[in-house]
Amino acid sequence: MRDPTSFLGEEYRQLVKDDLDWRLRVLQGPSAPWCEIDGKRVLMFCSNNYLGLSNHPKMKEAAHRAIDTHGVGSGSVRPIAGTMDLHMELERRLARFKHAEASLVYQTGFAANAGLIPQLAGEGDLIISDELNHGSIIDGVRLSRAERAVYRHADVSDLERVLAKAEEHVPTYRRILVITDGVFSMDGDIAPLDRISVVAAQHGAMVYVDDAHGEGVLGPGGRGIVAHFGLGRDRVQVEMGTFSKAWGVVGGHISGSTDLIKFAYNKSRTWLLSGSHPPPVAAACLAAIDVLESEPEHVERLWTHTRRFKKEMRDLGFDIGRSETPITPVIVGESSRAQKLSLRLFELGVFALPIVYPMVAKDKARIRTIMNAALTPEDVTMAIAAFQKAGRELSLI
Ligand SMILES: *Cc1c(COP(=O)(O)O)cnc(C)c1O
Repeated sequence: MRDPTSFLGEEYRQLVKDDLDWRLRVLQGPSAPWCEIDGKRVLMFCSNNYLGLSNHPKMKEAAHRAIDTHGVGSGSVRPIAGTMDLHMELERRLARFKHAEASLVYQTGFAANAGLIPQLAGEGDLIISDELNHGSIIDGVRLSRAERAVYRHADVSDLERVLAKAEEHVPTYRRILVITDGVFSMDGDIAPLDRISVVAAQHGAMVYVDDAHGEGVLGPGGRGIVAHFGLGRDRVQVEMGTFSKAWGVVGGHISGSTDLIKFAYNKSRTWLLSGSHPPPVAAACLAAIDVLESEPEHVERLWTHTRRFKKEMRDLGFDIGRSETPITPVIVGESSRAQKLSLRLFELGVFALPIVYPMVAKDKARIRTIMNAALTPEDVTMAIAAFQKAGRELSLI
């Protein structure tokens, strides 16, 4: 008889053959500037822990304390018996940090997108998405019964074209939702949210921004893309983000009007039907807000390192694309070159993974570096030297 699971091994072996399987690198200790990976001490150059907060003493202490006072689990989903004072305090503090009426915390950013997007637009509605939006947005859109349209990456005139066409649709769309990443994670470019919000308003559409890579990075005090552009909440109705990146912990969140938050928690199935954060997670996120508010040096150092790294890499002759953020892609062409460069960098003590097709175009394989505020200037010097040495060896510069 045929084995009904034979496809598992077959598909996996195909991935291996195509060099597309994930071979996991294992950290033997914290995600720190210098970490131990597969037995080797290397400089971490590709984590999303932009500000180095995942090891911040105040946050670790807050997590320890919350375990003592509240335990290691919340016991339930938020709407039943899993809302603790820590969760409520976190949402109040986050709303204040974001200068929004209210905020809501989900288990992850993925859960926020997958839970909320299908509730904001359904049958008879239209969702318009940037072609390079994150996979969790794509899945959120797929869960919706709304019609979908895509505009060319960060192209506001193309968005305008799609909106104008939508206006002529019969029957008239009930609602239109425009969704974009704030910072695009493969190229490090920033969505033109100011202009997007203007054309969306002209067509009566809502705007939803996923600022996973902009928080803790852009805007005054790392408040994110909405603050970066100084936009009102009447222009960007849903600001979504995650505590799993610059904040150094885990947890998705949205900020906006009180009506948005009340609607969202009554309707998002991911929020209603999945357990809430353990107390140490909520406490660590709360402490992260304290840290961002009281220690501006982390965001400042992130940008100082970023500007220097980009300048010196460009001066060396590397193609670093169009990034405007601490995500700096080092574009090398074919996949095999990116793999080789990554392996050589690892030998030289720098950990940065290749990003290859199908995540980026076939001839745009790259090493994606992400700057980290916890590095010292000497660490950045060492990383640049490693790129220079490996780049020369592989005839990239
Ligand atoms: C990482 C990321 C997410 C998912 O966030 P998690 O909290 O890790 O689930 C969503 N959107 C974008 C743009 C991201 O980069």
